[in-house]
Amino acid sequence: MSSGVATGKNCHGWAARDDSGFLSPYEFDRRSVGSEDISVKITHCGVCYADVLYTRNKFKHSIYPMVPGHEIVGVVTEVGGNVGKFKIGDHVGVGVMVDSCRDCENCNGRLEIHCSKGAVSTIGGTYADGSTCKGGYSKFIVAHERYCYKIPDKYPLAQAAPLLCAGITVYTPMIRHNMNQPGKSLGVIGLGGLGHLAVKFAKAFGLNVTVFSTSVSKKDDALNLLKADNFVLSSDKEQMSALSKSLDFIIDTASGDHSLDLYMSLLKTGGVLALVGFPGEQLKLSPLSLLMEMRSVSGSAVGGTKGTQEMLEFCAEHEIHPEIEVIPIQYANEALERLQKNDVKYRFVIDIENSLE
Ligand SMILES: [Zn+2]
Ligand SMILES: [Zn+2]
Repeated sequence: MSSGVATGKNCHGWAARDDSGFLSPYEFDRRSVGSEDISVKITHCGVCYADVLYTRNKFKHSIYPMVPGHEIVGVVTEVGGNVGKFKIGDHVGVGVMVDSCRDCENCNGRLEIHCSKGAVSTIGGTYADGSTCKGGYSKFIVAHERYCYKIPDKYPLAQAAPLLCAGITVYTPMIRHNMNQPGKSLGVIGLGGLGHLAVKFAKAFGLNVTVFSTSVSKKDDALNLLKADNFVLSSDKEQMSALSKSLDFIIDTASGDHSLDLYMSLLKTGGVLALVGFPGEQLKLSPLSLLMEMRSVSGSAVGGTKGTQEMLEFCAEHEIHPEIEVIPIQYANEALERLQKNDVKYRFVIDIENSLE
């Protein structure tokens, strides 16, 4: 925070200044700690594909300067007078949202991400006071305790970071659709940041897991690193048809255009495909694949505060650890470039504590 002295600003981070997305050092102010807030000294921040989308203004509503990062992990340094959940020194996470109305049906059901008034995005959202939210590529964050999660004491902080977006994104539909039944079978489409965590959760749930990928280079990791039971190259028609009507569930983490019909045909009667990736502007799907076998397609986005806390505890209990590449903040621009080429195994995590001056 030495640079803060020079500028009068209290926080230091890295920000994009325009839709080139190029990140560079940036000084800004965080609010002071309110009665229900905690202040978190950030130790690590995961690099999510959302960071690419927001810094490059892909949703056309980015406000610059833009500080990305919504897989935030750190240590509590200050607590407001009415904070009940946390004390100084606790390990905590902050995910994709930092506020919501706290009054609607979804907020009351602890599904704040689906707040009827819109959850406030950690990256570029707007706080109640009108200021713009700044993400985790920064020294510290002040957040309402409701949107902060306790990270179990022994859980490694660097590995906790990807759980706060990638982890909860796959965990939410798995719980919602009762995929945690030992002996059931799950297909995972795509083996990136989301997919690799879906495999890890599934193995902890006792599922039989088949990984589908367009790239044979993922086979070794799928079977040996992540302990999937089966790997199928999605272009291999013979292998695909051999799995016809064999799966209870599928999680689709793949982005980019792909037909769902082929995968739907692999579901048993009543099977569910949960979509967490973004397969283009429109789904390509024959109604017959739903009608004839009572199948469902379901969407899911991140998750609520209740599920996030449960997921963190589940990961600690079952020793589920994301595969990460730890990088210094100075590597952030290259990391975002590599992320766009899917060139990461399987999540970049920025070592904020040891690299952000
Ligand atoms: Zn994310
Ligand atoms: Zn709400």
